[in-house]
Amino acid sequence: MRTRRIFLGNLAAAAMEGQTMMQPDYNVIDPHVHVWTHNPQFPFAAGANVPARDAAPETLLGLMKANAVKRTVIIQVIHYRYDNRYLASVLKQYPREFKGVARVDPLDPASPDRLSRLVEEDGFRGVRLSPRAEASGDWIDGPLMLPLWKRCEKLKVPMTILAPISRVPAVGRLIDECPDLTLVIDHMADCPVGQPQELEKLIALKRHDRTFVKVSHTWSLSHQKYPWLDAQEHVKRLYAAFGPRRLMWATDWPIIENSGAAYAQALTLVRDDMAFLNNDDKRWMLSKTISRVWPFEGVPG
Ligand SMILES: [Zn+2]
Repeated sequence: MRTRRIFLGNLAAAAMEGQTMMQPDYNVIDPHVHVWTHNPQFPFAAGANVPARDAAPETLLGLMKANAVKRTVIIQVIHYRYDNRYLASVLKQYPREFKGVARVDPLDPASPDRLSRLVEEDGFRGVRLSPRAEASGDWIDGPLMLPLWKRCEKLKVPMTILAPISRVPAVGRLIDECPDLTLVIDHMADCPVGQPQELEKLIALKRHDRTFVKVSHTWSLSHQKYPWLDAQEHVKRLYAAFGPRRLMWATDWPIIENSGAAYAQALTLVRDDMAFLNNDDKRWMLSKTISRVWPFEGVPG
């Protein structure tokens, strides 16, 4: 009896230990990385400021394997500007592991048709726009935006926006015109932690049911060390406003490494070190919310 109790006790301890070591029972999907390689077959855009190192898909696949990340959405990197051929070739090579989001020129009236081709012929799932804060980003308020947004809505692919928080009201005006469009705001609109009131501009977008927010860039917004608690204050407020079903994590690999943070930390942050999240919240933010926007065949959220 005594032996049995000890045996069961050990089993329970082993099971508990296993629990903390065990991977979650959902499929982690990363909705945001970039890839590029120095290859004359796919030249970078004129004037692009490209790091000497590559961010190769095979390196990414290694990181995914090591961290049990099942699938990843690759966002066209600015180094190729509006030439999406390299990413199209990666998607063709790894159709199971990756989906892709393209870029088109916001100043070109032909961009809606180009987006249609990128989606229908090259299999891209969405487009990314990145208006800058200064006057060069004023096109976000210009006449070419609505036709592009309407096309995106018609194609049923997400519009993803990298914008400073000052541009978010303009994004809100556009999304009000496109009720069926899925909108994803990247990296909490990089709202500075020292300007918490500015986050209200992003919170105002909760009025649109199909608006999602990536709660990434905690590492670059923070003035602290991991787990970047000052930047987690933004995440808490977004969580209260949008709920976990409209929030998603992201690594932003390899850009995350520019902040001295690692791919794995983007994951452990949300999985282990956001004290206000319960297990169901994590299931949504690491998996199911991303599946709502970018469903991967055979990999349910
Ligand atoms: Zn990025």
